[in-house]
Amino acid sequence: MPLSRRHFLAGAGLTGGTLLANASIPALARAPLADAPTLGALRRKVGSVEVTALLDGYVDIGSELFTGLIDAEAERLAEASFQEPGPRRAPVNAYLVNLGDRLVLVDAGTSDSMGPTLGRLPAAMEAAGVAPDLIDTLLITHMHPDHINGVLTPAGEALFPNAELVVTATDYAFWHDDAKMNQAPDEAKPFFIGARKAAAAYGDRVRQVDGEGEAVGSIRTVPLPGHTPGHAGFIVESDGEALFIWGDVVHIATYQFARPDWSIAFDVDSKLAGETRKRTFDRVAADRMLIAGMHLPFPGFGHVARDGEAYRFVPDEWPYRL
Ligand SMILES: [Zn+2]
Repeated sequence: MPLSRRHFLAGAGLTGGTLLANASIPALARAPLADAPTLGALRRKVGSVEVTALLDGYVDIGSELFTGLIDAEAERLAEASFQEPGPRRAPVNAYLVNLGDRLVLVDAGTSDSMGPTLGRLPAAMEAAGVAPDLIDTLLITHMHPDHINGVLTPAGEALFPNAELVVTATDYAFWHDDAKMNQAPDEAKPFFIGARKAAAAYGDRVRQVDGEGEAVGSIRTVPLPGHTPGHAGFIVESDGEALFIWGDVVHIATYQFARPDWSIAFDVDSKLAGETRKRTFDRVAADRMLIAGMHLPFPGFGHVARDGEAYRFVPDEWPYRL
C-alpha cells in the first residue's frame, strides 16, 4: 500500500489537534549525543550470494591531490552535488562475500595505520556477526594501505588466522621491486614497506593471481591497471545476477563520474588509470551492471549511467536486509 499524505502526517503525530497540543510541550525526549562512531555494515543478496558492505572510515582529500583538476570546475561540481567547496571526503569500504561454502573479504581497510577516522572494519565485522577466524579468503584489489593494511593487527600480525591472502602477481611484483621503491618519492616509500609487511605476515598463505580468471569460487578477477600496475576488480556472479566490486576506479564520486580524466596523485600511472576508468564506466553502463567501490559513498552499491560525454553514479535503492 503506498503511503498517503494522511498516513505520513499520522505517523509523524501531526494530524489535527495533536499539532496544537504538542506546541505547548517545551522539549523532545532528552538523550545525550552519542559522541561515538557509527558502525557500518549493510547486507544484501546478489543471486544466492550474500554481500555485506563494511565501513572502515573515511579520509579527506584536498584538490591538490588531483591531477588534471580545474579548480573552478571542481567548485561547480561540488555545488551541483550540494557539497561545500574544498576537500572531498572519501569513504573506505570493504565487502564481505558469503559464497555459502566460503567467506571472502574483499579488501580489509587500514587497521590503525591511517588515523582516527579509519580502522573501524574489525568493529563493523563484529557488528555483522563475523569473527576474523571465519574468513577463508582475503581478496585484495591492490596493495595500497587503505586496502591491505587491515589484514594486520596493530601489532603487525595476521588478523585473519585462517585466511589465504590473494593479491595480483603484477601488484605483488611491483611493491616488492627494490628498484621501484628506490625510485619512488619519499612519501610513497611507506606504501612499499606496508605492502611487504602485509604479505610477509601471511607467509606461504599468499596466493598470486593474474589476468582475467577465477580468483576464488565463482568470483572472477578483472585487471584494472593504472591506479597501481596490478589493480584489479572482482566480479561476483550467482544465479544470473552479478556484482562488480571495482576497487579504486573512482576515489571521489563528486568529481570523477563527471570528469573521468581527473586522477588522484596516488595513481602509479594516471593516464592509464583514466583510460581504465572510462573503459570501465562504458562497460558497466552498457551492461547495466551493478557495481560497488571502495571509495563510493557507503555502502557503495549502484549503477553508472552515461550523461552526454560524462557519467553519473546512481545509488541503488534499498536492497539491504534488516
Ligand atoms: Zn584506495
